[in-house]
Amino acid sequence: MIQAKAYAAQTPTSDLQPWNLQRREVGDHDVQFDIRYCGVCHSDLHQIRNDWFPGIFPMVPGHEIVGKVTKVGPLVRKYKVGDTVGVGCLVDSCRVCDECKEGLEQYCTNGHSQTYNGLEQDHKTPTYGGYSNTIVVHEDFVLKVSDKLDLPAVAPLLCAGITTYSPLRHWKVGKGHKLGVVGLGGLGHMAVKFGAAFGAEVTVLSTSAGKEADAKKLGAHKFVVTKDEKQLKSVKGYFDFIIDTVSAEHDMNVYLGLLRTDGVMICVGVPSKPAPIAPFSVIVGRKSFAGSSIGGLPETQEMLDFCAEHNIVSDIEIIAMKDIMPSYDRMLKGDVKYRFVIDMATL
Ligand code: NAP
Ligand code: ZN
Ligand code: ZN
Repeated sequence: MIQAKAYAAQTPTSDLQPWNLQRREVGDHDVQFDIRYCGVCHSDLHQIRNDWFPGIFPMVPGHEIVGKVTKVGPLVRKYKVGDTVGVGCLVDSCRVCDECKEGLEQYCTNGHSQTYNGLEQDHKTPTYGGYSNTIVVHEDFVLKVSDKLDLPAVAPLLCAGITTYSPLRHWKVGKGHKLGVVGLGGLGHMAVKFGAAFGAEVTVLSTSAGKEADAKKLGAHKFVVTKDEKQLKSVKGYFDFIIDTVSAEHDMNVYLGLLRTDGVMICVGVPSKPAPIAPFSVIVGRKSFAGSSIGGLPETQEMLDFCAEHNIVSDIEIIAMKDIMPSYDRMLKGDVKYRFVIDMATL
């Protein structure tokens, strides 16, 4: 086994603390890499706190992982030592269901292996994520990262990036569309960048008036403070698409009211409690309320290549591993500009 250093939560109420774990030996098709940076996703905090479901503890979060290959198995064809690579939210899947065959591993009907708080395909061995110095992953779930981009700023593309890229591509959001982005955090700021890159008119719908200048710099055309009734009313029935990235409980009916006829609201944020939707919110105007989960492996690679071509990365604040708990506190207050990324050299 390979000894690895990490930060783990031992229970759903404990802080993250240093913890040593063992990774499997590098198998025939495995890639081992030194983790250089790992993004901090709001899902990390939801999961260590059991916000959604009982998790597997000890838990090592982190699914926005980038680094340099240190070892490859004898049958690995795609990577060699020294390559810059990434791993997102998935480290394996059944590979035989229709969804897996289509490259939609995020919807694997036999249960994929999440990068952490999940189980390997033996359905027994827990997975441990990227708040760690090294990881071993099957080459099929490792992504190529261009050396043209700033490495720490690439890390959040592996979750925040693909989670917003995938639905915008699926619903073909682009020129001539009005897109509303609810919540300007990690996911939201990437939705703004991709929406603008695809040619849509982008409006940020935020609870934080102070984020307006940043939103415009990120590519938004308009900014609406959702706590201001007058501003909210000005965009009633306005949007073709809304992507909702909010992590906390909020009234989704308000945003459905901002869609035009046949508009689609795409939910990607995952508050811990169910959200009531009034039937009239979707009946009037034949609206759709939809959801989307991360993205499959082929689309994640497509997104990374698109970012390299268009020079798109995340706006980040680099933190030391020991500062993870105060960073979570700031994330809860909406005070992230716009993604924390852990420098793993500080582990
Ligand atoms: P984040 O960086 O904390 O951003 C969330 C933003 O939501 C905040 O910056 C804030 O923006 C807004 N917000 C927070 N509390 C709010 C409230 N009470 N009412 C209204 N707005 C509020 O989080 P993130 O990492 O982007 O993740 C967002 C959510 O997506 C999380 O629930 C996460 O688990 C989920 N997620 C889902 C997927 C998927 O596959 N579907 C993948 C990754 C993450 P403003 O200040 O602009 O209002
Ligand atoms: Zn995430
Ligand atoms: Zn499958």
